[in-house]
Amino acid sequence: MLGLMQSQPLLISTLLEFADRHHGDGEIVSRRVEGDIHRYTYKDLATRSRQVANAVEKLGLQFSDRVATLAWNGYRHLELYYGVSGSGRVLHTVNPRLHPDQIAWIINHADDQVMCFDTTFLPLVQAVHARCPGIKLWVALCDADKLPADTGVPGLVSYEAWIGAQSSDYHWPEFDENTASSMCYTSGTTGNPKAALYSHRSSVLHAYAASLPDVMCLSARDSVLPVVPMFHVNAWGLPYSAALTGCKLVFPGPALDGKSVYELIEAEGVTFAAGVPTVWQMLLGHMKPGGLRFSKLNRTVIGGSACPPAMINAFQDAYGVEVLHAWGMTEMSPLGTLCTLKNKHLGLPKDEQMKIRMKQGRAIFGVDMKIVDGDGEELPWDGRAYGDLLVKGPWILGEYYRSEGASPLIKDKQGRGWFPTGDVATIDADGFMQITDRSKDVIKSGGEWISSIDIENIAMGHPAIAMAACIGMPHPKWDERPVVAVVKKPGAEVTREELLAFYEGKTAKWQIPDDVIFVEAIPIGATGKMLKTRLRDQLKGYKLPGL
Ligand code: AMP
Repeated sequence: MLGLMQSQPLLISTLLEFADRHHGDGEIVSRRVEGDIHRYTYKDLATRSRQVANAVEKLGLQFSDRVATLAWNGYRHLELYYGVSGSGRVLHTVNPRLHPDQIAWIINHADDQVMCFDTTFLPLVQAVHARCPGIKLWVALCDADKLPADTGVPGLVSYEAWIGAQSSDYHWPEFDENTASSMCYTSGTTGNPKAALYSHRSSVLHAYAASLPDVMCLSARDSVLPVVPMFHVNAWGLPYSAALTGCKLVFPGPALDGKSVYELIEAEGVTFAAGVPTVWQMLLGHMKPGGLRFSKLNRTVIGGSACPPAMINAFQDAYGVEVLHAWGMTEMSPLGTLCTLKNKHLGLPKDEQMKIRMKQGRAIFGVDMKIVDGDGEELPWDGRAYGDLLVKGPWILGEYYRSEGASPLIKDKQGRGWFPTGDVATIDADGFMQITDRSKDVIKSGGEWISSIDIENIAMGHPAIAMAACIGMPHPKWDERPVVAVVKKPGAEVTREELLAFYEGKTAKWQIPDDVIFVEAIPIGATGKMLKTRLRDQLKGYKLPGL
């Protein structure tokens, strides 16, 4: 017997219609590429998103055709999120930090028909347009009178002229909730990039889950700053969760330096911000010398790579801002776990609480996770056993776009598919997951795991160190031994011996790196993650001391 409740598809357009009707006067504030601040409301967003829908319709785009963006976080990008997906087309957010060759490859692989770009990225568009014959229309995200002249990009139009010519009368179509809504290619540190293709259903369910109290705890009383880019896993779904909850949205545009982000947080009464550790490092670096304080910011989600304990402490102790450490992946829309304490932890001493806060956290309802050994057998949740982390759930990838049916999933005994994350983790008895390494980047010494993240975190806790990357080096007896490559803070001094002595007592003796290598910079990938493969290439020929 089926239930007798109404059956309505979970569509992205319903989030916008809800926002329009129920918090239409809610504010959306954006710092524009031009540098000025733009303000409007959810009602304005809804009106202009309908114009976008008419514009793609008029262009003759078919259902599921792809519209690409090369854009910062801002209101026009948000209108494309809703107008393109809501009308049944697929929004492809391209990462502008990738190499032009990769961008051209991605545009062609995705079969994009329209490219909307911020004028900051005009040089990129000029570098790739001739290689992207499938693009029917190039749109600069600017006012008609700001359209750059003599660009060499054929038929270039301004966004305002494009959508300004359209009616704002549009009825969002109803279709299967499993229809593709947006897509995002993964950073592509190895081989060609691969795309996660999100659906309306997965995006709406993720938006619900992300807003829950033990996740981002979003409400109509919040002012939310997504620093995490809209070209990286839909800014962790915040554009959707914001419409669902009615929070004020604040977009930083291209200005991601500490000063600009701080000023925006203060000017717009931001209560909640989300970003990767690198961005917060710049923010804290700006605030410390001048003794600046936050007036309203009370929590921040930090994820994308491990949040150093020193950062959790700085936010909490010096500024009274709660850090929510989060873990996820492009393939997971992206949220998987978030670290919020349980009731029983509230009475624990601060250092005990800190041990928990450093973990990546508990699974959100909708994400099932487990750790397995090399034979695929599930490992215990005892906080000690390490294993490959597998996940499944309604907003987790089943198959990569255009992968010809090849499934990356691993079947369990019941035939259920689990996505292998490539991360290695422990899970404790309370369900707190902690990433200890990546399966492609683990250090195994004498048959025992060494967490490169732990080794990096300790180095980062030294006052002279700006950045650290730990990698395993071949060793005849132990198989591998860890070494740590470090970048010193400007003007700071520390010797190899001093840094190695700094490890004493902070980790098991055998886990202390065998060597410290001072480097000018650690290679960083397009999404801000360390490229250890490239670091390894740079250190080719290096030999461990004593070998
Ligand atoms: P991406 O798809 O680019 O978001 O990268 C996802 C990967 O980033 C994960 O598989 C992890 O290896 C890493 N990652 C994300 N969040 C964290 C975190 N909080 N701590 C450690 N690694 C993380």
